[in-house]
Amino acid sequence: MPGHTPGKKVVILGGGFGGVAAARAARSLIPVEHSVTLIDRSRVTRLCGMNPMLIVGERDVRKTGRSLGQLANRGIEFVESEISSIDTAGRSVQTAAGAYEYDYLVVGLGATYDWGAVPGSDLAYSFYDLETSRRLRRRLSRFRRGRLVISVAAPPYKCPPAPFETAMMIHWYFRKQGIRKDAEIIVTIPEPAPLAVAGPAASARLRDDLERRGIELRTGAGVISVRPDAMEAVYSDGSSLAADVIVTVPVHRVPRVVAESGLTNGKPWTPVNANTLETAASDVFAVGDVNVVPFGEGRAIPKAGVFAAGQGESVAATIASRILDTAPPPAYDGSGECFLAYSTTQSAMVGGTFLTPAGPQVGLRPPSMSGMRSKERFEKDWRRFRI
Ligand SMILES: Cc1cc2nc3c(=O)[nH]c(=O)nc-3n(C[C@H](O)[C@H](O)[C@H](O)COP(=O)(O)OP(=O)(O)OC[C@H]3O[C@@H](n4cnc5c(N)ncnc54)[C@H](O)[C@@H]3O)c2cc1C
Repeated sequence: MPGHTPGKKVVILGGGFGGVAAARAARSLIPVEHSVTLIDRSRVTRLCGMNPMLIVGERDVRKTGRSLGQLANRGIEFVESEISSIDTAGRSVQTAAGAYEYDYLVVGLGATYDWGAVPGSDLAYSFYDLETSRRLRRRLSRFRRGRLVISVAAPPYKCPPAPFETAMMIHWYFRKQGIRKDAEIIVTIPEPAPLAVAGPAASARLRDDLERRGIELRTGAGVISVRPDAMEAVYSDGSSLAADVIVTVPVHRVPRVVAESGLTNGKPWTPVNANTLETAASDVFAVGDVNVVPFGEGRAIPKAGVFAAGQGESVAATIASRILDTAPPPAYDGSGECFLAYSTTQSAMVGGTFLTPAGPQVGLRPPSMSGMRSKERFEKDWRRFRI
């Protein structure tokens, strides 16, 4: 192979969608004399996409995780450790298990939740991680009548369809329990329209679908606080809502270790070259929720696992081309589709391709049984490390 240099170290930070996809693809593209190491503080990672079904008792908590230890079977070294600093000048990463030097670094450390940004939200409910989802599941199993609100704090947040999917699943569950007529479901979002990232037609369709199910939508109202009794939420437009159950989507932030590395350059998320996902530091790439990939005017590719995984694969191909001194792969195209379940048997799909010369080719496909079959297949594939 021309110019092929042996013994390069590829280090991947984070074992979520982006990190695992980068590790799997890198290992399949790069000869074994080059090492691929993935570092995450957690051995078991969770599929958050199951949470909207989990909270209504339709997913088994024991099946929401996968063990990163299994990566060893694929020739990927897994290190379970907290990452405390990233030194791009010295090309090394400090962890609780020691320092790791790299030739190529992939940062896939996701987003963290800033519960403190919405005072009182820690007393309310959520479905953005396993612990909050389990608590909401217990509350919903006791719910008989009253008002439930799902309130988003501020964009960007993971999986833009998730608040609506959750409302749809709670609607479905209340109907199954025979209590729908005694329950009010309200979704409040800070944006002017739902799912705006997928275009005006998707927004309009989703508005209709929510209305047909009696789910009220309030736009332009980000939740800014929850009263200490967790029975009233206050919004950015000056309004407030009393409710029996308040469910919030937290403010998302870049992880501290990434901000401190200088990779964000003082910005809220890690800027990258949209074609290669390389950061301002050479041979350092950022994939998934931790980055911002702009398109159009002031918009960005959504924070979702499917995009994180596509980015991981794209970055692995670029790293392989640099190690093997071959032609660079095609530019990243920003493609992927998320699920938006309406019930246990029907799921819509949102997405398409964001980075095309003609602009984003994205939309919302109506709910169908085949959409739900794809969602179930996706979950199985994730557990088996096929994604
Ligand atoms: C309710 C809900 C529903 C969703 N539904 C979907 C869906 O249907 N489809 C979809 O595509 N996406 C969905 N998503 C979004 C998806 O879960 C995220 O976008 C995706 O997980 C992002 O992947 P990532 O690799 O960027 O980061 P993550 O998956 O967040 O992985 C980051 C990893 O980094 C590790 N880490 C962070 N900091 C450190 C540190 N200092 N030291 C060591 N390790 C560290 C973490 O432990 C974590 O494992 C949903 C999310 C939610 C909350």
